[in-house]
Amino acid sequence: MAVSDIIQKRLDGVEQHEEDGKLVQTKNIGRYKVAVIRDKCISAASCVAIAPKVFQLDEEAIATVISQDGHDDETKLLAAQSCPTAAITVTDTETGEQVWPVE
Ligand code: SF4
Repeated sequence: MAVSDIIQKRLDGVEQHEEDGKLVQTKNIGRYKVAVIRDKCISAASCVAIAPKVFQLDEEAIATVISQDGHDDETKLLAAQSCPTAAITVTDTETGEQVWPVE
């Protein structure tokens, strides 16, 4: 890959990888990664109300992450902070540090 291609890729925020022989591109609009601790989720759904393109309730009415890229970092963090049981963790993928809940 040429240097200009790498720079362009970073500027666009587009990641690409091969899956079943096909080139798959995903646009990463942030650096925060969210995860749901299922045992803590009480189905309050405030995360879904704030960031519906990232969180949805599954068939057991437990929040699940449907995409890391549905909303920007600020919205993902806000959704996590809205959770009454702190069931959502937010990790900075560049530093590896947990951003929320603050320990
Ligand atoms: S806000 Fe928290 S408790 Fe409510 S659905 Fe989301 S993860 Fe579950």
